[in-house]
Amino acid sequence: MRFLLLTFGCKSNQYESQFLRESLVSRGLEEVETALLADVLIVNTCAVTGRAGSTCRSAIRRSLRENPQLQLMLTGCAVEVEEEWLAAFPQALREGNARKPFIPDRLLGKSGETPAASVKAGVTGLKNHTRVFLKIQDGCDQHCAYCLIPRARGEPSSRDPDDLVREAAVLAGNGYPEIVLTGINIGFYRFQAVGLASLLDRLAPCIGSTRLRLGSVEPAAVTEELLLAIKRHPAVCHHLHIPLQSGDPRILQAMRRRYSPEEFLEKVALSREILDHPAITSDVIVGFPGEDGDAFQNTREVCRQAAFSRLHVFHYSRRPGTPAADLPTTTPTDVISKWKRLLLLQAARQAEQYAASQTGREERVVAEVSGSRTDRYLLADIEPLPRPGAILRTRITGSRGARVTGVVIPDQKQ
Ligand code: SF4
Repeated sequence: MRFLLLTFGCKSNQYESQFLRESLVSRGLEEVETALLADVLIVNTCAVTGRAGSTCRSAIRRSLRENPQLQLMLTGCAVEVEEEWLAAFPQALREGNARKPFIPDRLLGKSGETPAASVKAGVTGLKNHTRVFLKIQDGCDQHCAYCLIPRARGEPSSRDPDDLVREAAVLAGNGYPEIVLTGINIGFYRFQAVGLASLLDRLAPCIGSTRLRLGSVEPAAVTEELLLAIKRHPAVCHHLHIPLQSGDPRILQAMRRRYSPEEFLEKVALSREILDHPAITSDVIVGFPGEDGDAFQNTREVCRQAAFSRLHVFHYSRRPGTPAADLPTTTPTDVISKWKRLLLLQAARQAEQYAASQTGREERVVAEVSGSRTDRYLLADIEPLPRPGAILRTRITGSRGARVTGVVIPDQKQ
């Protein structure tokens, strides 16, 4: 049987698709790159925004037009929360997120009750990627008002650190220069007595020269204990992605976020106090119901004070079944689009200032096909051009916009 695997959404979905890929191939199935060559189309869907859902739908329709004989297997978050559009594919087999390990069995016409053997072993790499993802945790119980992930992914669960240490060693052994710790809410990783800080203490010694990067960490999880653990291990990048979402206290409350703008800025300040010139990146939602001009200005001001090195700005997307879904959106779309542009302009200036501040520093970079990336998540133009997959110490010589330029520090094996 030949399969085409389409993956949408977050790093956790990418990781789970890789796990699925390896399980299917180990069961004798062959992966192909086009619908025409495939017998079965597996779609690992995303439902985080309305647009994510429509992107999945059009990809499925395109494949079915290309090959109407295709068997269809749908999995991922849309299977958990998007009943209305799934009905458009009545012929499709479906498996929710927790049942992904059972898909190989199901496709092979077996009971579908035997999970793929290697759940604990995890993955051995990531197709077409230089940096690899290691899923350490799943689920979330924070129930932010705009977010349907708790419904799609369920209660928080953390993987056994012994399994993670084994898997990380395999990934480093397979030559991956960077491992990104991912999950739905990794800041709240907890397996018995092992939290995220002590997990870093377990992982860092067993990955050789491979570096570790943390995925998104909620503000509440940015603690002195975690920051000191990052500082303790040269393997760990001094880069934190801490979602702000809004800088206005009234909107944060309406979003059911669990911090004030002041508390958020304190976490940023603490990170800068303990870490070495860290990159702090973030996410903001504009247009959340009830956001007016004053609230937007508060967000703009908090972003200015936080001086993020990179900021993602999202237009609020109403998600059915979330607490905010029934709140009236009062602000016209063109105003929200203007706010988004203003925030991105400010963020671009601050990204350039951060890149410029790197000049003269020694910085570790990982070379990828698409360009090198520093520990502090900056794209870097390095001379001489390193081979993809190399991990090197460099001297930053300058910046171009939000990118940095640098030279390889001599006497290093590529
Ligand atoms: S913390 Fe909030 S935004 Fe993040 S996954 Fe959980 S509910 Fe969604």
